[in-house]
Amino acid sequence: MGNAQAISHTNVEISSKVPMDELVALCKRRGFIFPASEIYGGINGFWDFGPLGVLLKNNLRDRWWRDMVITPPIGPDGEPLQIVGVDTAIIQNPKTWEASGHIAGFSDPMVDCKETKLRYRADHVMVLLPHTSKMPPAPKVPSVAFVEGTPLQDIEKHIKKIAKKLGISISLKDFIGHQYREIEGSELNIAVHHDKLPLTQINKDKYTEIVAPDADVPGTLTEPRAFNLMFETQVGAVRDDSSKAYLRPETAQGIFLNYKNVVDNMRVRVPFGIAQVGKAFRNEVTPRNFIYRSREFEQMEMEWFCHPDEAKKWFEFWTEMRKSWWADVGVSSSNLQLRQHDKDELSHYAKAGVGTVDIEYRFPFTAPGFGELEGIAHRCDFDLTQHEKHSTKKMEYFDDSVQPPRRFLPHVIEPAAGLTRGVLAVLAEAYTVDASRPSQMYMKFKPSMAPVKAAILPLINKDGLPEIAQKLYYCMRTKFMTEYDAKSNIGKRYARHDEIGTPFCITVDTETPKDQAVTIRFRDTMAQERVALDRVEAFVAKALAE
Ligand code: ATP
Repeated sequence: MGNAQAISHTNVEISSKVPMDELVALCKRRGFIFPASEIYGGINGFWDFGPLGVLLKNNLRDRWWRDMVITPPIGPDGEPLQIVGVDTAIIQNPKTWEASGHIAGFSDPMVDCKETKLRYRADHVMVLLPHTSKMPPAPKVPSVAFVEGTPLQDIEKHIKKIAKKLGISISLKDFIGHQYREIEGSELNIAVHHDKLPLTQINKDKYTEIVAPDADVPGTLTEPRAFNLMFETQVGAVRDDSSKAYLRPETAQGIFLNYKNVVDNMRVRVPFGIAQVGKAFRNEVTPRNFIYRSREFEQMEMEWFCHPDEAKKWFEFWTEMRKSWWADVGVSSSNLQLRQHDKDELSHYAKAGVGTVDIEYRFPFTAPGFGELEGIAHRCDFDLTQHEKHSTKKMEYFDDSVQPPRRFLPHVIEPAAGLTRGVLAVLAEAYTVDASRPSQMYMKFKPSMAPVKAAILPLINKDGLPEIAQKLYYCMRTKFMTEYDAKSNIGKRYARHDEIGTPFCITVDTETPKDQAVTIRFRDTMAQERVALDRVEAFVAKALAE
Protein backbone atom coordinates (compact mmCIF):
# COMPACT_ATOMS: atom_id res chain seq x y z
CA MET A 1 0.00 0.00 0.00
CA GLY A 2 1.12 3.51 -0.66
CA ASN A 3 2.72 5.26 2.27
CA ALA A 4 1.66 8.75 3.05
CA GLN A 5 4.88 10.39 1.97
CA ALA A 6 4.21 10.05 -1.70
CA ILE A 7 0.78 11.57 -1.38
CA SER A 8 0.13 15.24 -1.19
CA HIS A 9 -3.26 15.74 0.40
CA THR A 10 -3.45 19.37 -0.36
CA ASN A 11 -4.83 20.53 -3.68
CA VAL A 12 -5.47 16.97 -4.80
CA GLU A 13 -8.13 16.74 -7.40
CA ILE A 14 -10.30 13.80 -6.44
CA SER A 15 -11.11 12.37 -9.83
CA SER A 16 -12.31 9.09 -8.39
CA LYS A 17 -15.71 9.66 -6.85
CA VAL A 18 -16.97 6.16 -7.36
CA PRO A 19 -19.36 5.12 -4.59
CA MET A 20 -17.74 1.90 -3.44
CA ASP A 21 -20.90 0.41 -1.90
CA GLU A 22 -22.78 0.98 -5.16
CA LEU A 23 -19.98 -0.60 -7.18
CA VAL A 24 -20.05 -3.67 -4.93
CA ALA A 25 -23.86 -3.85 -5.21
CA LEU A 26 -23.67 -3.56 -9.00
CA CYS A 27 -21.05 -6.30 -9.16
CA LYS A 28 -23.44 -8.62 -7.37
CA ARG A 29 -26.61 -7.54 -9.16
CA ARG A 30 -25.09 -7.83 -12.60
CA GLY A 31 -23.10 -11.01 -12.03
CA PHE A 32 -19.55 -9.67 -11.86
CA ILE A 33 -18.49 -10.73 -8.37
CA PHE A 34 -20.27 -12.65 -5.59
CA PRO A 35 -19.16 -13.34 -2.02
CA ALA A 36 -17.75 -16.88 -1.91
CA SER A 37 -19.97 -19.48 -0.18
CA GLU A 38 -22.67 -16.87 0.19
CA ILE A 39 -25.46 -19.35 1.01
CA TYR A 40 -23.43 -20.39 4.06
CA GLY A 41 -22.83 -16.84 5.20
CA GLY A 42 -19.70 -16.28 3.09
CA ILE A 43 -16.06 -16.72 4.05
CA ASN A 44 -13.99 -13.66 4.80
CA GLY A 45 -11.41 -12.81 2.15
CA PHE A 46 -12.75 -15.03 -0.63
CA TRP A 47 -14.78 -14.00 -3.66
CA ASP A 48 -16.30 -15.74 -6.66
CA PHE A 49 -16.30 -14.29 -10.13
CA GLY A 50 -19.70 -14.51 -11.79
CA PRO A 51 -20.46 -14.85 -15.50
CA LEU A 52 -19.67 -11.22 -16.34
CA GLY A 53 -16.74 -10.98 -13.93
CA VAL A 54 -14.95 -13.97 -15.36
CA LEU A 55 -15.26 -12.51 -18.87
CA LEU A 56 -13.77 -9.23 -17.66
CA LYS A 57 -10.98 -10.96 -15.73
CA ASN A 58 -10.11 -13.17 -18.68
CA ASN A 59 -10.01 -10.16 -20.99
CA LEU A 60 -7.49 -8.45 -18.72
CA ARG A 61 -5.48 -11.66 -18.27
CA ASP A 62 -5.46 -12.42 -22.00
CA ARG A 63 -4.37 -8.92 -22.83
CA TRP A 64 -1.43 -9.20 -20.39
CA TRP A 65 -0.51 -12.60 -21.81
CA ARG A 66 -0.71 -11.29 -25.35
CA ASP A 67 1.45 -8.25 -24.55
CA MET A 68 4.02 -10.29 -22.60
CA VAL A 69 4.21 -13.71 -24.26
CA ILE A 70 2.53 -13.64 -27.68
CA THR A 71 3.83 -10.28 -28.86
CA PRO A 72 6.34 -9.07 -26.26
CA PRO A 73 7.33 -5.40 -26.47
CA ILE A 74 10.03 -4.13 -28.78
CA GLY A 75 13.16 -3.58 -26.71
CA PRO A 76 15.38 -0.48 -26.52
CA ASP A 77 17.51 -1.86 -29.42
CA GLY A 78 14.49 -2.11 -31.72
CA GLU A 79 14.28 -5.93 -31.53
CA PRO A 80 11.31 -7.80 -30.03
CA LEU A 81 12.02 -9.06 -26.50
CA GLN A 82 12.02 -12.79 -25.72
CA ILE A 83 9.48 -13.85 -23.13
CA VAL A 84 8.14 -17.37 -22.63
CA GLY A 85 5.25 -18.51 -20.44
CA VAL A 86 4.87 -21.22 -17.81
CA ASP A 87 2.04 -22.52 -15.65
CA THR A 88 3.52 -24.08 -12.54
CA ALA A 89 2.05 -26.04 -9.63
CA ILE A 90 0.46 -24.18 -6.75
CA ILE A 91 2.01 -26.61 -4.28
CA GLN A 92 5.77 -27.06 -4.63
CA ASN A 93 8.40 -28.79 -2.54
CA PRO A 94 8.34 -26.90 0.81
CA LYS A 95 12.09 -26.29 0.49
CA THR A 96 11.10 -23.71 -2.13
CA TRP A 97 9.70 -21.48 0.59
CA GLU A 98 12.65 -22.01 2.86
CA ALA A 99 14.96 -20.90 0.05
CA SER A 100 12.78 -17.95 -0.95
CA GLY A 101 12.64 -16.66 2.62
CA HIS A 102 8.87 -17.03 2.93
CA ILE A 103 8.94 -19.48 5.85
CA ALA A 104 11.20 -17.26 7.91
CA GLY A 105 10.09 -13.85 6.79
CA PHE A 106 6.72 -13.67 5.05
CA SER A 107 4.77 -12.27 7.92
CA ASP A 108 2.76 -9.28 8.97
CA PRO A 109 2.57 -7.77 12.46
CA MET A 110 -0.72 -8.82 13.98
CA VAL A 111 -2.60 -7.77 17.11
CA ASP A 112 -5.49 -9.54 18.79
CA CYS A 113 -8.33 -7.99 20.71
CA LYS A 114 -8.94 -9.86 23.97
CA GLU A 115 -12.49 -8.49 24.22
CA THR A 116 -13.84 -9.28 20.74
CA LYS A 117 -11.35 -12.02 19.76
CA LEU A 118 -10.84 -10.18 16.47
CA ARG A 119 -7.43 -9.97 14.85
CA TYR A 120 -5.96 -6.98 13.00
CA ARG A 121 -2.88 -6.12 11.01
CA ALA A 122 -1.04 -3.73 13.31
CA ASP A 123 0.13 -1.52 10.46
CA HIS A 124 -3.47 -1.13 9.28
CA VAL A 125 -4.81 -0.01 12.67
CA MET A 126 -4.93 3.76 13.09
CA VAL A 127 -5.27 5.48 16.41
CA LEU A 128 -7.06 8.73 17.14
CA LEU A 129 -5.70 10.45 20.21
CA PRO A 130 -8.06 12.64 22.22
CA HIS A 131 -7.64 16.30 21.51
CA THR A 132 -6.49 16.98 25.03
CA SER A 133 -6.83 20.76 25.12
CA LYS A 134 -10.60 20.34 24.78
CA MET A 135 -10.91 17.49 27.22
CA PRO A 136 -11.75 17.79 30.88
CA PRO A 137 -9.09 16.25 33.12
CA ALA A 138 -11.45 13.51 34.28
CA PRO A 139 -12.86 11.05 33.53
CA LYS A 140 -9.97 9.74 31.45
CA VAL A 141 -10.68 9.75 27.74
CA PRO A 142 -9.22 6.80 25.84
CA SER A 143 -7.65 6.82 22.39
CA VAL A 144 -9.80 5.25 19.68
CA ALA A 145 -8.47 2.76 17.15
CA PHE A 146 -10.01 2.00 13.78
CA VAL A 147 -8.99 0.01 10.74
CA GLU A 148 -7.53 2.26 8.04
CA GLY A 149 -10.18 3.14 5.50
CA THR A 150 -13.16 2.81 7.88
CA PRO A 151 -15.90 5.25 6.81
CA LEU A 152 -16.20 8.34 8.94
CA GLN A 153 -19.75 7.57 10.06
CA ASP A 154 -18.65 4.16 11.39
CA ILE A 155 -15.89 5.79 13.44
CA GLU A 156 -18.43 8.24 14.81
CA LYS A 157 -20.72 5.37 15.77
CA HIS A 158 -17.86 3.60 17.47
CA ILE A 159 -17.01 6.68 19.50
CA LYS A 160 -20.65 7.05 20.58
CA LYS A 161 -20.70 3.44 21.72
CA ILE A 162 -17.54 3.91 23.74
CA ALA A 163 -18.91 7.08 25.30
CA LYS A 164 -22.05 5.24 26.39
CA LYS A 165 -20.13 2.31 27.78
CA LEU A 166 -17.68 4.47 29.73
CA GLY A 167 -20.31 7.01 30.76
CA ILE A 168 -18.42 9.96 29.31
CA SER A 169 -19.40 12.60 26.82
CA ILE A 170 -17.22 12.53 23.72
CA SER A 171 -17.69 12.86 19.97
CA LEU A 172 -15.55 12.58 16.86
CA LYS A 173 -14.77 16.30 17.04
CA ASP A 174 -12.90 15.76 20.28
CA PHE A 175 -10.43 13.52 18.44
CA ILE A 176 -9.81 15.55 15.32
CA GLY A 177 -7.72 18.35 16.66
CA HIS A 178 -5.81 21.17 15.10
CA GLN A 179 -2.78 18.93 14.53
CA TYR A 180 -4.72 16.91 11.95
CA ARG A 181 -6.02 19.98 10.22
CA GLU A 182 -2.54 21.37 9.88
CA ILE A 183 -1.28 18.22 8.26
CA GLU A 184 -4.18 17.51 6.03
CA GLY A 185 -6.08 20.70 5.32
CA SER A 186 -9.63 21.22 6.40
CA GLU A 187 -11.33 18.07 5.17
CA LEU A 188 -12.28 15.94 8.11
CA ASN A 189 -12.66 12.73 6.14
CA ILE A 190 -9.22 13.04 4.61
CA ALA A 191 -7.78 13.70 8.03
CA VAL A 192 -9.31 10.53 9.40
CA HIS A 193 -8.50 8.34 6.43
CA HIS A 194 -4.88 9.40 6.35
CA ASP A 195 -4.26 9.67 10.03
CA LYS A 196 -0.59 9.80 10.88
CA LEU A 197 -0.64 7.54 13.89
CA PRO A 198 -0.62 3.90 12.98
CA LEU A 199 -0.66 1.58 15.97
CA THR A 200 2.88 0.44 15.11
CA GLN A 201 4.15 3.92 15.96
CA ILE A 202 2.59 3.98 19.39
CA ASN A 203 4.57 2.87 22.42
CA LYS A 204 3.32 -0.49 23.78
CA ASP A 205 2.90 1.07 27.28
CA LYS A 206 0.14 3.23 25.81
CA TYR A 207 -1.91 0.26 24.55
CA THR A 208 -3.81 0.26 27.85
CA GLU A 209 -5.34 3.60 26.81
CA ILE A 210 -6.52 2.47 23.38
CA VAL A 211 -9.99 1.11 22.59
CA ALA A 212 -9.61 -1.54 19.85
CA PRO A 213 -11.54 -1.05 16.57
CA ASP A 214 -14.52 -3.19 17.59
CA ALA A 215 -14.20 -3.11 21.37
CA ASP A 216 -16.03 -1.06 24.02
CA VAL A 217 -13.34 -0.59 26.61
CA PRO A 218 -9.65 0.34 26.48
CA GLY A 219 -6.67 -1.96 26.96
CA THR A 220 -7.74 -5.09 25.11
CA LEU A 221 -5.13 -5.11 22.32
CA THR A 222 -2.22 -7.52 22.55
CA GLU A 223 1.30 -6.59 21.50
CA PRO A 224 2.00 -7.10 17.77
CA ARG A 225 3.29 -10.57 16.83
CA ALA A 226 4.62 -11.78 13.51
CA PHE A 227 2.02 -13.87 11.70
CA ASN A 228 3.08 -15.97 8.72
CA LEU A 229 0.77 -15.41 5.76
CA MET A 230 1.25 -18.75 4.06
CA PHE A 231 -1.60 -21.26 4.05
CA GLU A 232 -0.42 -24.67 5.20
CA THR A 233 -1.69 -27.99 3.95
CA GLN A 234 -0.70 -31.64 4.10
CA VAL A 235 0.36 -33.70 1.11
CA GLY A 236 -0.37 -37.44 1.16
CA ALA A 237 -2.05 -39.69 3.67
CA VAL A 238 0.31 -39.18 6.59
CA ARG A 239 -0.29 -36.06 8.61
CA ASP A 240 2.94 -35.03 10.22
CA ASP A 241 5.63 -32.41 9.80
CA SER A 242 7.19 -34.26 6.86
CA SER A 243 3.98 -33.94 4.82
CA LYS A 244 3.54 -30.23 5.50
CA ALA A 245 3.27 -28.09 2.35
CA TYR A 246 2.17 -24.58 1.49
CA LEU A 247 -0.12 -22.94 -1.03
CA ARG A 248 2.07 -20.55 -3.00
CA PRO A 249 1.94 -16.96 -1.74
CA GLU A 250 3.27 -15.67 -5.09
CA THR A 251 3.55 -17.08 -8.58
CA ALA A 252 7.16 -15.88 -8.95
CA GLN A 253 8.85 -18.83 -7.24
CA GLY A 254 7.39 -21.33 -9.74
CA ILE A 255 9.25 -19.32 -12.37
CA PHE A 256 12.58 -19.43 -10.52
CA LEU A 257 12.19 -23.18 -9.99
CA ASN A 258 11.92 -23.60 -13.76
CA TYR A 259 14.59 -21.10 -14.75
CA LYS A 260 17.13 -23.86 -15.38
CA ASN A 261 14.66 -25.98 -17.36
CA VAL A 262 13.85 -23.02 -19.58
CA VAL A 263 17.51 -22.03 -20.14
CA ASP A 264 18.56 -25.61 -20.86
CA ASN A 265 15.63 -26.62 -23.04
CA MET A 266 14.33 -23.53 -24.77
CA ARG A 267 16.22 -21.35 -27.21
CA VAL A 268 16.43 -18.33 -24.95
CA ARG A 269 19.40 -16.05 -24.34
CA VAL A 270 19.84 -13.55 -21.55
CA PRO A 271 18.13 -11.08 -21.44
CA PHE A 272 14.81 -12.92 -21.52
CA GLY A 273 11.67 -13.22 -19.46
CA ILE A 274 9.44 -15.95 -18.05
CA ALA A 275 5.82 -15.04 -17.42
CA GLN A 276 3.08 -16.68 -15.42
CA VAL A 277 -0.52 -15.92 -14.49
CA GLY A 278 -2.17 -17.78 -11.67
CA LYS A 279 -3.61 -18.02 -8.20
CA ALA A 280 -1.73 -16.99 -5.11
CA PHE A 281 -2.86 -17.42 -1.52
CA ARG A 282 -2.13 -15.28 1.50
CA ASN A 283 -3.79 -15.67 4.85
CA GLU A 284 -4.18 -11.90 5.13
CA VAL A 285 -4.88 -10.76 8.69
CA THR A 286 -7.46 -8.23 7.60
CA PRO A 287 -8.84 -8.92 4.13
CA ARG A 288 -10.86 -5.92 3.07
CA ASN A 289 -11.93 -3.41 0.48
CA PHE A 290 -13.82 -5.93 -1.62
CA ILE A 291 -11.39 -7.85 -3.86
CA TYR A 292 -8.48 -5.45 -3.20
CA ARG A 293 -7.07 -7.52 -0.38
CA SER A 294 -8.31 -11.08 -0.47
CA ARG A 295 -6.90 -14.37 0.72
CA GLU A 296 -7.08 -16.03 -2.68
CA PHE A 297 -6.23 -13.90 -5.69
CA GLU A 298 -4.50 -13.96 -9.03
CA GLN A 299 -1.20 -12.49 -10.06
CA MET A 300 0.41 -11.77 -13.41
CA GLU A 301 4.15 -11.91 -12.87
CA MET A 302 7.11 -11.78 -15.21
CA GLU A 303 10.70 -12.39 -14.19
CA TRP A 304 13.13 -10.66 -16.53
CA PHE A 305 16.62 -12.20 -16.38
CA CYS A 306 19.40 -9.84 -17.41
CA HIS A 307 23.08 -9.13 -16.91
CA PRO A 308 23.68 -7.35 -13.56
CA ASP A 309 25.19 -4.34 -15.35
CA GLU A 310 21.96 -3.85 -17.30
CA ALA A 311 19.58 -4.10 -14.35
CA LYS A 312 19.06 -0.35 -14.08
CA LYS A 313 18.28 0.04 -17.76
CA TRP A 314 15.72 -2.77 -17.68
CA PHE A 315 14.18 -1.56 -14.43
CA GLU A 316 13.47 1.78 -16.07
CA PHE A 317 12.27 0.13 -19.26
CA TRP A 318 9.75 -2.11 -17.46
CA THR A 319 8.53 0.64 -15.17
CA GLU A 320 7.55 2.78 -18.14
CA MET A 321 6.17 -0.16 -20.11
CA ARG A 322 3.95 -1.36 -17.29
CA LYS A 323 2.58 2.07 -16.45
CA SER A 324 1.56 2.69 -20.03
CA TRP A 325 0.04 -0.82 -20.20
CA TRP A 326 -2.47 0.04 -17.49
CA ALA A 327 -3.44 3.14 -19.44
CA ASP A 328 -3.86 0.92 -22.54
CA VAL A 329 -6.43 -1.26 -20.79
CA GLY A 330 -8.47 1.77 -19.82
CA VAL A 331 -7.06 2.90 -16.47
CA SER A 332 -6.73 6.66 -16.73
CA SER A 333 -3.17 7.82 -16.18
CA SER A 334 -4.47 10.67 -14.01
CA ASN A 335 -5.47 7.98 -11.49
CA LEU A 336 -2.09 6.26 -11.63
CA GLN A 337 1.14 7.19 -9.92
CA LEU A 338 4.57 5.70 -9.50
CA ARG A 339 5.90 5.45 -5.99
CA GLN A 340 9.50 4.60 -5.25
CA HIS A 341 9.97 2.49 -2.11
CA ASP A 342 11.96 4.08 0.69
CA LYS A 343 15.19 2.30 1.67
CA ASP A 344 13.68 0.92 4.92
CA GLU A 345 10.62 -0.36 3.05
CA LEU A 346 12.52 -2.52 0.54
CA SER A 347 12.00 -6.29 0.62
CA HIS A 348 14.97 -8.40 1.71
CA TYR A 349 15.69 -9.36 -1.92
CA ALA A 350 15.64 -5.80 -3.21
CA LYS A 351 17.94 -4.18 -0.63
CA ALA A 352 21.06 -4.19 -2.78
CA GLY A 353 19.33 -3.38 -6.04
CA VAL A 354 18.34 -0.31 -7.99
CA GLY A 355 15.04 -0.21 -6.13
CA THR A 356 11.37 -1.06 -6.16
CA VAL A 357 8.64 1.07 -7.59
CA ASP A 358 4.91 0.57 -7.15
CA ILE A 359 2.38 1.49 -9.78
CA GLU A 360 -0.46 2.79 -7.66
CA TYR A 361 -4.07 3.43 -8.54
CA ARG A 362 -6.44 5.88 -6.89
CA PHE A 363 -8.96 3.30 -5.69
CA PRO A 364 -12.31 4.67 -4.49
CA PHE A 365 -11.46 3.73 -0.88
CA THR A 366 -7.95 5.23 -0.98
CA ALA A 367 -8.90 8.46 -2.78
CA PRO A 368 -7.46 11.00 -2.76
CA GLY A 369 -4.58 8.64 -1.92
CA PHE A 370 -3.43 5.61 -3.87
CA GLY A 371 -3.09 1.85 -3.36
CA GLU A 372 -0.68 -0.64 -4.94
CA LEU A 373 -1.69 -2.22 -8.23
CA GLU A 374 1.64 -3.58 -9.38
CA GLY A 375 5.19 -3.65 -8.04
CA ILE A 376 8.34 -3.52 -10.16
CA ALA A 377 11.27 -4.83 -8.19
CA HIS A 378 14.93 -5.40 -8.84
CA ARG A 379 15.24 -8.77 -7.09
CA CYS A 380 18.99 -8.89 -7.84
CA ASP A 381 20.21 -12.51 -7.95
CA PHE A 382 18.58 -13.25 -4.61
CA ASP A 383 16.22 -16.02 -5.73
CA LEU A 384 18.65 -17.83 -8.03
CA THR A 385 21.39 -17.68 -5.37
CA GLN A 386 19.03 -19.04 -2.73
CA HIS A 387 17.75 -21.88 -4.92
CA GLU A 388 21.31 -22.70 -5.94
CA LYS A 389 22.27 -22.92 -2.27
CA HIS A 390 19.25 -24.95 -1.14
CA SER A 391 19.05 -27.29 -4.13
CA THR A 392 22.80 -27.48 -4.82
CA LYS A 393 21.97 -27.17 -8.53
CA LYS A 394 24.03 -24.65 -10.50
CA MET A 395 22.03 -21.71 -11.78
CA GLU A 396 24.82 -19.84 -13.55
CA TYR A 397 24.28 -18.68 -17.08
CA PHE A 398 27.01 -19.26 -19.66
CA ASP A 399 27.26 -16.42 -22.12
CA ASP A 400 29.37 -17.24 -25.18
CA SER A 401 28.08 -14.30 -27.20
CA VAL A 402 30.93 -12.15 -25.78
CA GLN A 403 34.71 -12.55 -25.83
CA PRO A 404 35.92 -13.97 -23.60
CA PRO A 405 32.79 -16.01 -22.76
CA ARG A 406 31.52 -15.41 -19.23
CA ARG A 407 29.51 -17.11 -16.52
CA PHE A 408 27.20 -15.15 -14.26
CA LEU A 409 24.03 -15.34 -12.24
CA PRO A 410 21.49 -13.14 -13.98
CA HIS A 411 19.78 -10.37 -12.09
CA VAL A 412 16.01 -10.18 -12.15
CA ILE A 413 13.63 -7.32 -12.79
CA GLU A 414 10.12 -8.35 -11.79
CA PRO A 415 6.93 -6.59 -12.84
CA ALA A 416 4.40 -8.25 -10.47
CA ALA A 417 0.80 -7.22 -11.08
CA GLY A 418 -2.40 -8.21 -9.33
CA LEU A 419 -4.95 -9.54 -11.79
CA THR A 420 -7.69 -9.44 -9.16
CA ARG A 421 -6.72 -5.93 -8.11
CA GLY A 422 -6.48 -5.01 -11.76
CA VAL A 423 -10.08 -6.09 -12.26
CA LEU A 424 -11.08 -3.83 -9.37
CA ALA A 425 -9.19 -0.89 -10.90
CA VAL A 426 -10.84 -1.48 -14.27
CA LEU A 427 -14.27 -1.73 -12.63
CA ALA A 428 -13.74 1.42 -10.56
CA GLU A 429 -12.41 3.30 -13.56
CA ALA A 430 -15.37 2.25 -15.70
CA TYR A 431 -18.07 3.20 -13.18
CA THR A 432 -19.51 6.43 -14.52
CA VAL A 433 -22.35 8.31 -12.86
CA ASP A 434 -24.89 9.73 -15.32
CA ALA A 435 -28.15 10.98 -13.88
CA SER A 436 -29.64 11.38 -17.35
CA ARG A 437 -29.94 7.63 -17.87
CA PRO A 438 -32.53 5.28 -16.42
CA SER A 439 -29.68 3.26 -14.90
CA GLN A 440 -28.20 6.49 -13.41
CA MET A 441 -24.76 5.18 -14.35
CA TYR A 442 -22.95 3.11 -16.93
CA MET A 443 -19.76 1.05 -17.08
CA LYS A 444 -17.41 2.81 -19.45
CA PHE A 445 -15.10 -0.12 -20.16
CA LYS A 446 -12.65 0.20 -22.98
CA PRO A 447 -14.47 -1.86 -25.67
CA SER A 448 -11.70 -4.49 -25.75
CA MET A 449 -12.12 -5.06 -21.98
CA ALA A 450 -15.94 -5.08 -21.93
CA PRO A 451 -17.34 -8.51 -20.97
CA VAL A 452 -19.99 -8.31 -23.69
CA LYS A 453 -18.95 -6.49 -26.83
CA ALA A 454 -22.26 -6.30 -28.65
CA ALA A 455 -25.93 -6.94 -27.94
CA ILE A 456 -28.33 -7.79 -30.74
CA LEU A 457 -31.78 -6.51 -29.90
CA PRO A 458 -34.86 -7.10 -32.05
CA LEU A 459 -37.12 -4.15 -31.31
CA ILE A 460 -40.22 -6.34 -31.33
CA ASN A 461 -40.64 -10.08 -31.45
CA LYS A 462 -42.59 -10.25 -34.69
CA ASP A 463 -42.73 -9.02 -38.31
CA GLY A 464 -39.59 -10.95 -39.25
CA LEU A 465 -37.33 -8.94 -36.91
CA PRO A 466 -36.25 -11.90 -34.71
CA GLU A 467 -35.20 -13.82 -37.83
CA ILE A 468 -32.95 -11.01 -39.06
CA ALA A 469 -31.60 -10.40 -35.55
CA GLN A 470 -30.82 -14.08 -35.07
CA LYS A 471 -29.03 -14.31 -38.38
CA LEU A 472 -26.86 -11.37 -37.37
CA TYR A 473 -26.32 -12.90 -33.94
CA TYR A 474 -25.22 -16.25 -35.38
CA CYS A 475 -22.66 -14.45 -37.47
CA MET A 476 -21.41 -12.06 -34.72
CA ARG A 477 -21.15 -14.68 -31.97
CA THR A 478 -18.35 -16.47 -33.80
CA LYS A 479 -16.25 -13.29 -33.70
CA PHE A 480 -17.07 -11.48 -30.45
CA MET A 481 -18.75 -12.09 -27.12
CA THR A 482 -22.24 -11.19 -28.30
CA GLU A 483 -25.59 -11.42 -26.54
CA TYR A 484 -28.95 -11.92 -28.14
CA ASP A 485 -31.44 -10.08 -25.99
CA ALA A 486 -35.11 -10.04 -26.89
CA LYS A 487 -36.67 -9.71 -23.44
CA SER A 488 -38.46 -6.62 -22.04
CA ASN A 489 -38.80 -3.19 -23.60
CA ILE A 490 -35.90 -1.61 -25.46
CA GLY A 491 -35.28 1.04 -22.76
CA LYS A 492 -34.80 -1.64 -20.11
CA ARG A 493 -32.50 -3.57 -22.39
CA TYR A 494 -30.36 -0.48 -23.03
CA ALA A 495 -30.26 0.19 -19.28
CA ARG A 496 -29.03 -3.32 -18.52
CA HIS A 497 -26.34 -3.09 -21.17
CA ASP A 498 -25.27 0.29 -19.79
CA GLU A 499 -24.87 -1.36 -16.41
CA ILE A 500 -22.74 -4.19 -17.74
CA GLY A 501 -20.83 -1.88 -20.05
CA THR A 502 -21.74 -3.29 -23.47
CA PRO A 503 -20.23 -0.76 -25.89
CA PHE A 504 -22.61 -1.47 -28.80
CA CYS A 505 -26.33 -2.20 -28.75
CA ILE A 506 -27.45 -3.22 -32.21
CA THR A 507 -31.17 -2.82 -32.73
CA VAL A 508 -33.07 -4.52 -35.50
CA ASP A 509 -36.16 -2.35 -36.02
CA THR A 510 -39.16 -2.20 -38.33
CA GLU A 511 -37.11 -0.38 -40.98
CA THR A 512 -34.49 -3.14 -41.12
CA PRO A 513 -36.40 -5.48 -43.48
CA LYS A 514 -36.73 -2.55 -45.87
CA ASP A 515 -33.30 -0.90 -45.73
CA GLN A 516 -31.17 -3.87 -44.59
CA ALA A 517 -29.64 -1.64 -41.92
CA VAL A 518 -29.63 -1.56 -38.12
CA THR A 519 -29.23 1.12 -35.46
CA ILE A 520 -26.08 0.96 -33.41
CA ARG A 521 -26.39 2.72 -30.07
CA PHE A 522 -23.11 3.84 -28.53
CA ARG A 523 -22.91 3.24 -24.81
CA ASP A 524 -20.89 6.35 -23.90
CA THR A 525 -22.72 8.99 -25.89
CA MET A 526 -26.08 7.21 -26.36
CA ALA A 527 -25.82 8.47 -29.95
CA GLN A 528 -27.30 6.20 -32.60
CA GLU A 529 -25.99 5.47 -36.05
CA ARG A 530 -27.59 3.61 -38.92
CA VAL A 531 -25.24 0.94 -40.26
CA ALA A 532 -25.81 -1.52 -43.10
CA LEU A 533 -26.29 -5.09 -41.88
CA ASP A 534 -23.32 -6.34 -43.85
CA ARG A 535 -21.04 -3.71 -42.28
CA VAL A 536 -21.87 -4.35 -38.63
CA GLU A 537 -19.16 -6.92 -38.00
CA ALA A 538 -16.37 -4.78 -39.49
CA PHE A 539 -17.71 -1.78 -37.59
CA VAL A 540 -17.45 -3.55 -34.22
CA ALA A 541 -14.09 -5.13 -35.08
CA LYS A 542 -12.62 -1.70 -35.82
CA ALA A 543 -13.81 -0.25 -32.53
CA LEU A 544 -12.38 -3.20 -30.60
CA ALA A 545 -8.96 -2.84 -32.16
CA GLU A 546 -8.57 0.67 -30.71
P1 ATP B 1 0.40 -5.22 -0.35
O1 ATP B 1 1.50 -4.29 0.12
O2 ATP B 1 -0.82 -4.51 -0.85
O3 ATP B 1 0.09 -6.32 0.63
P2 ATP B 1 2.47 -6.62 -1.71
O4 ATP B 1 3.49 -5.54 -1.90
O5 ATP B 1 2.66 -7.62 -0.63
O6 ATP B 1 0.99 -5.98 -1.63
P3 ATP B 1 3.38 -8.19 -3.92
O7 ATP B 1 3.92 -9.27 -3.09
O8 ATP B 1 4.33 -7.23 -4.56
O9 ATP B 1 2.27 -7.37 -3.10
O10 ATP B 1 2.40 -8.83 -5.00
C1 ATP B 1 2.25 -8.31 -6.32
C2 ATP B 1 0.83 -7.87 -6.57
O11 ATP B 1 -0.10 -8.87 -6.15
C3 ATP B 1 0.41 -6.62 -5.81
O12 ATP B 1 0.83 -5.46 -6.47
C4 ATP B 1 -1.10 -6.74 -5.78
O13 ATP B 1 -1.65 -6.24 -7.00
C5 ATP B 1 -1.31 -8.24 -5.74
N1 ATP B 1 -1.68 -8.65 -4.37
C6 ATP B 1 -0.84 -8.85 -3.33
N2 ATP B 1 -1.53 -9.23 -2.24
C7 ATP B 1 -2.85 -9.27 -2.61
C8 ATP B 1 -4.07 -9.61 -1.94
N3 ATP B 1 -4.06 -10.01 -0.67
N4 ATP B 1 -5.24 -9.54 -2.63
C9 ATP B 1 -5.24 -9.17 -3.92
N5 ATP B 1 -4.13 -8.84 -4.61
C10 ATP B 1 -2.94 -8.89 -3.97
